Amino acid sequence: MVGVPVASPPGGAGAPREEAPRPPPPPAPRNGTSPKQGALTIVRRSSSRNKTESCSTPTDEQLDQLDLDTEHLPAVDTPDACDKAALRLRYLLRQLNRGEISAETLQKNLQYAAKVLEAVYIDETKDRRDAEQPRAQQTTLPMRRLRTPCWARCSVEKPNEAKPAVARQQSAPTLVFRRLADEDDELSEVQPDAVPPEVREWLASTFTRQLATSKRKSDEKPKFRSVAHAIRAGIFVDRIYRRVTSTALMQFPQDVVRVLKTLDEWSFDVFALHDAASGAPVKYLGYELLNRYGMIHKFKVPPTILENFLSRIEEGYCKFHNPYHNNLHAADVAQTVHYMLCQTGLMNWLSDLEIFATLVAAIVHDFEHTGTTNNFHVMSGSDTALLYNDRAVLENHHISAAFRLMRDEECNILQNLSRDEFREFRTLVIDMVLATDMSFHFQQLKNMRSLLSLAEPTVDKSKAVSLVLHCCDISHPAKYELTPGTVPGYLFEISYFKPKCNLRRLHSG
Ligand SMILES: [Zn+2]
Repeated sequence: MVGVPVASPPGGAGAPREEAPRPPPPPAPRNGTSPKQGALTIVRRSSSRNKTESCSTPTDEQLDQLDLDTEHLPAVDTPDACDKAALRLRYLLRQLNRGEISAETLQKNLQYAAKVLEAVYIDETKDRRDAEQPRAQQTTLPMRRLRTPCWARCSVEKPNEAKPAVARQQSAPTLVFRRLADEDDELSEVQPDAVPPEVREWLASTFTRQLATSKRKSDEKPKFRSVAHAIRAGIFVDRIYRRVTSTALMQFPQDVVRVLKTLDEWSFDVFALHDAASGAPVKYLGYELLNRYGMIHKFKVPPTILENFLSRIEEGYCKFHNPYHNNLHAADVAQTVHYMLCQTGLMNWLSDLEIFATLVAAIVHDFEHTGTTNNFHVMSGSDTALLYNDRAVLENHHISAAFRLMRDEECNILQNLSRDEFREFRTLVIDMVLATDMSFHFQQLKNMRSLLSLAEPTVDKSKAVSLVLHCCDISHPAKYELTPGTVPGYLFEISYFKPKCNLRRLHSG
């Protein structure tokens, strides 16, 4: 048995990230219930924040006339419900401040408002075909939105160019699902651990019965307004953190920005990116993808560490001067995986960690490829074949070398993952990269076909993303024109003519 060093789980990061506790489902109200389970009614409101605010801010006179009765409220997934809920929240705030509200009334109204908020999602690019489908066939996957490209946040554009407008225009077609909220409003993305410790402590002491009774005098009742202030303070700090990390994000050269504007398209030109990035497409494309899916923020990947990691991955791809399985191929496959994730809606089915693993697997899937086939390694008895006992020799090496690289603190993009997250991430990446071995191709297809032929197929996520990566890995004939000097040229040169030249180098490691 050969011991293969792998990236260590992050030191001291054993404690799993604190998840936001899910509130228990409220008791079914007698009215205002969601009328159809599994079918989401889309509520559209003005996208203009000012307009929305001016329309929905009630006057004192309106508030004075409000009746907090919860017996005759509209269904939660109607526009009317939004207005009603907003008005009631305003009223509750005022009454709380005056200390003139019963706990029961408060509870009922907050339950109603919560249900309204849960129902208010929007699919802005919803296909008409979807609308024509019977409601029963529509799924209610959690919605995911891509983040603003980091090149649009960085100050690389000329001052006279409208940066955000350009960025949004370009990325708009791929924002498969978006929330109803104003695009600038990032409250929905605020993570529970983004709230500073002192605010969390205060919230805990205010709302935990044990602490509250021991520490608080009977006449010191918590005020809703102070809770709101505390939450707002947490959000404020989170926004400052985002701004600081935004300014720390890698700078993108102007030519790279121009090419990346078509990142979401099938026709994305990876060759143009390679030229614009001075031969470093993985660095910019990898960085951009991990930012777009929010992975840098979600898993607290330090920007400089990510940059180091991608640069070293890029170097590994160029190590053997491989004419096909090089950094250009890695960038190409990662972009195709991105296209599949966002254009098919897969990104709404996968968890953050699964997306993180899928993107990283795509980036490293041929890391340090020697430009030879597995069979060549086996037949020549290379060190690598010896190490991996002739089984999926190259694929094992890609994974092992990538995780070994992450053992270096300067390249450890997983340093802030919890132990459980690290294990899951590692398992997913191993499964995905091993499945790129062409010898599993027909078996993979057969398995998926038989699975999909079942009356009620249950698709294993790991197998699904593995197949996606494998398909993207061999997608080049569908992406590029078969003309002399382009991709096929790389293809034929690599595996059949190059090995003999590299024989000595392989044996010497
Ligand atoms: Zn590949």
